[in-house]
Amino acid sequence: MNQNRLNITLLELCEIPSPSQNERQVADYILDRVSSLGVDVVEDEAVKDIGGNTGNLVVRLSDNDNDNDKPSLLLSAHMDTVDPKLGSSNKINVMVSDGIVHTDGKTILGADDKAGVAIALEMIHYVVENPGDLVTPLEIVFTVQEEIGVLGASYLKKTNLVSKCGFVLDGDTEVGTVIVKSPYKWKYFLDVLGKSAHAALDPEKGINAIKVLSSIIGELPCGRIDNNTVTNYGIVTGGTTTNVVADQAKLIGELRGHDIEKINYVQTEMFVNIQKITQEFGANFDINWTSLYSGYVVSNDSQCMQYFMSACSKLGIEPKTVVTDGGGDANHLNGAGINCVPFGLGMKAIHTNQEHISLADLHLAFNLLLECLRQNR
Ligand SMILES: [Zn+2]
Repeated sequence: MNQNRLNITLLELCEIPSPSQNERQVADYILDRVSSLGVDVVEDEAVKDIGGNTGNLVVRLSDNDNDNDKPSLLLSAHMDTVDPKLGSSNKINVMVSDGIVHTDGKTILGADDKAGVAIALEMIHYVVENPGDLVTPLEIVFTVQEEIGVLGASYLKKTNLVSKCGFVLDGDTEVGTVIVKSPYKWKYFLDVLGKSAHAALDPEKGINAIKVLSSIIGELPCGRIDNNTVTNYGIVTGGTTTNVVADQAKLIGELRGHDIEKINYVQTEMFVNIQKITQEFGANFDINWTSLYSGYVVSNDSQCMQYFMSACSKLGIEPKTVVTDGGGDANHLNGAGINCVPFGLGMKAIHTNQEHISLADLHLAFNLLLECLRQNR
């Protein structure tokens, strides 16, 4: 690893604002760097489907000196950040104090996930500069729109990837920690259909959809259902004006859980309750569920975990695993059969103006990742 280059890459990337759907400058930075090394990189057509100004980038690396029959490994990092809320200075002021990279406190740093992008780029340099060391082919994916519903990874044509396992370089967990379990996430759209009537002249002829929905809301679960399952309704709309009995009302909510059977149970129970209440009022309803991503459990005997644990022991790091209630690119990749774990990079206070990362952690994360990839010999 060229520590100085890795540091500079991180600082330069953090200085480029790249809120979701505006990853263009970061993608161009990556395209320039990778092309200058003579490595192929392809941008997909995600823009046509999910909007924004940038597609996912896919880099393929193999060591031409070796006749390669080793299985390919996948690395991924996302190019977008949450909105940096730039304010009047219109820039991200990145600074380093005592080995800690941070901002002036007026914006996020964006180490989530520029740290992952920087490590992936340094790994590409490493492979090019050290032929014969890493004999494993690599597929490196830089995704867009992770922070607004993991849209880039959802669009990504995962069937074009040959890797069956890998590491997602994203995470505010410590270096030496990987996420091995993450929940399924569903969104629901409930439409209640009543009957309109003049609110003053013929109220008896109407069925007020807002009233029906409010009864339904009183019965629907909201909050933590059990240790594995949590749900929330977040948006209510309905009606048109005050002198008309509202004939429609809408509720949008979400349901997350680690156990798909429990999720299906909650969905069925909600359906039965909604049906009962709407029938009592003589109203109708329609409920649509969209799966945003699937959950995953990566077991200790999976290939990526084996590599991770061997690498930790080689570097004298105590390996740790954690369960998250959040989701990310790893959900879509695991859902497509690519066994992978989010790999701790040591970023702290992500999504806040206090976000920071230590350069020592950045270097350690790179070395640990390199050791993981070396296990695939
Ligand atoms: Zn992230």
